[in-house]
Amino acid sequence: MLPESPGGLAAVVGLLGLCVGSFLNVVIHRLPKMMEREWQTQCAELRGEMPPPGEALSLAKPRSRCPTCGHRITALENIPLLSYLLILKGKCAGCGARISPRYPIVEALTGLLSAYAAWHFGPTLQTLGALVLIWALIALSAIDLDTQLLPDSITLPLLWLGLGFNLWTTYTDLPSAVVGAMLGYLALWSVFWLFKLATGKEGMGYGDFKLLAALGAWLGWQMLPAIILLSSVVGAIVGITLIVACRRGRNIPIPFGPYLAAAGGIALFWGAQITHGYLSSIS
Ligand SMILES: [Zn+2]
Repeated sequence: MLPESPGGLAAVVGLLGLCVGSFLNVVIHRLPKMMEREWQTQCAELRGEMPPPGEALSLAKPRSRCPTCGHRITALENIPLLSYLLILKGKCAGCGARISPRYPIVEALTGLLSAYAAWHFGPTLQTLGALVLIWALIALSAIDLDTQLLPDSITLPLLWLGLGFNLWTTYTDLPSAVVGAMLGYLALWSVFWLFKLATGKEGMGYGDFKLLAALGAWLGWQMLPAIILLSSVVGAIVGITLIVACRRGRNIPIPFGPYLAAAGGIALFWGAQITHGYLSSIS
């Protein structure tokens, strides 16, 4: 059933990744809108009013449309990557409005990372888990960039799935995974309160704690120092670059989720080498 060679498996999984990337675009675009709709409905119910009317919204319905003219995306225009590059050439077929390059970028990134996971881990349970983790991290990063939110509907199932995969010691043993989930949450929770007590500001959100808890559940507590260090270093480099290059104000919040997600991805593939490296440099 599965291709014999590592390259063949990577190619098949990469194609699957492209299609999943196309679905992730829908999740990234629609999940925050669905959450907003739900909050409005709950607020209206608390006030004893009728919920605001609106078109039914879920991940499956309605079909994707051009936000400018309402042109329905046809099956042909929905082929990941190719339709953007060859058929649409970056423009809506209905009105010619520019389509954000974010869509093909998310598709390409999902395809490439999926293929790499298959190549790295081979035909194992580790590949299956890595795909789930990578897809969730891509969706979370993009939603955080757009809205500064990390939805519970992704972070919490991700935590449980990490513990579930480690029932079979897929990435780490189960006790390390459980401790990883607890310490991951606690670590950023402590930083949050220290920062708030010291400066009176909130430096990050509760979603960041849950994301680090999930990464701890997947990769074990041993990986947490490397993840925090990597995300801080990448975050500092990008943050300083943005302030210098765009004269971006220091007070505009820069979401931390994408850096945590990137660090989690690095730890997934090369965590063992990284921790071995710094443990041997200490001792
Ligand atoms: Zn259009």
